[in-house]
Amino acid sequence: MIEQIEEVKRKLLEEIESVKDEKQLEEFRIKYLGRRGIIQTFFDQFKEIPRLEKPTVGKFLNDLKKFAQAIFEDKKREIESSKRKVKRLIDLTIPGRFKYTGRKHPLTQTLEEIEKIFVGMGFEVASGPEIEDDYHNFEALNIPPEHPARDMQDTFFIKENIILRTHTSPVQIRVMESKQPPVRIIAPGRVYRNEAISARSYCLFHQVEGLYVDEGVSFAELKGTLLSFAKQMFGSDVKLRFRPSFFPFTEPSAEVDVSCFICGGKGCRVCKYGGWLEILGCGMVDPNVFRFVGYDSEKYTGYAFGMGVERIAMLKYGIDDIRLFYENDFRFLDQF
Ligand SMILES: [Zn+2]
Repeated sequence: MIEQIEEVKRKLLEEIESVKDEKQLEEFRIKYLGRRGIIQTFFDQFKEIPRLEKPTVGKFLNDLKKFAQAIFEDKKREIESSKRKVKRLIDLTIPGRFKYTGRKHPLTQTLEEIEKIFVGMGFEVASGPEIEDDYHNFEALNIPPEHPARDMQDTFFIKENIILRTHTSPVQIRVMESKQPPVRIIAPGRVYRNEAISARSYCLFHQVEGLYVDEGVSFAELKGTLLSFAKQMFGSDVKLRFRPSFFPFTEPSAEVDVSCFICGGKGCRVCKYGGWLEILGCGMVDPNVFRFVGYDSEKYTGYAFGMGVERIAMLKYGIDDIRLFYENDFRFLDQF
């Protein structure tokens, strides 16, 4: 009988391993610990064994019962605790996990907005290389080697005569070289300046260049186009102010201010209490530039303008540090 008891003990251990849920556990309990279970059957037979063997067999039998109960209780606790875990996993009161969705960079958004406005006015989008030669970046734009304007644009040189473009204006030249008027384009893109990085300037930024050349293009048309742009970009009540300026590739030239759309021109921190914000430079294309690209400057006139996308975005969204655009800080980017 002792051998049988030992055998049952081994089986118990084997079977408890395969018990996975309450139903199987109950089957296990009935089979071994039930009123008609295997262990009870041993107790029933116990009466019939010889008297002398009783103490030894009795001890084995009691051990077996205790052992079976212990592993049954252990298993029961294990099943209950795993059930609690499952319950926690599907707790519907836990707030959902937030999934980040991608969005466009504020500069891309601003650039696309500018593009959309000009495309709506009949401009085509043109592009050119970011690695330029000296001729397209400077010379053909009426900036000869000794011209002081070269100092205004600290340049990254790749090698002699090959540079990272300092403005998007060389795209004008490339477009005019490749086709005859009428030309009506905007050229958005990245430009590079070898400048100390600060809240106001960065070694790279974005510009949008505009060019319109045809017979009889006038400064009045330039003003009209820019006013329409400003109203669509900053609000329908803004005004423009043109201040005489100088650029080598336009004559006459002007810098353009928009009335502060934050304070309505009354004066605030953003417009430095002047009521105006500088947004772009423009002018009538210098006849010298036409000569470089082979256009007849007696027949054609044209205007050009250029603006910094970072500056427009900073004004529009009230951003006070240009470096934020390039740091990829989620706390910043998330706001757009
Ligand atoms: Zn203001």
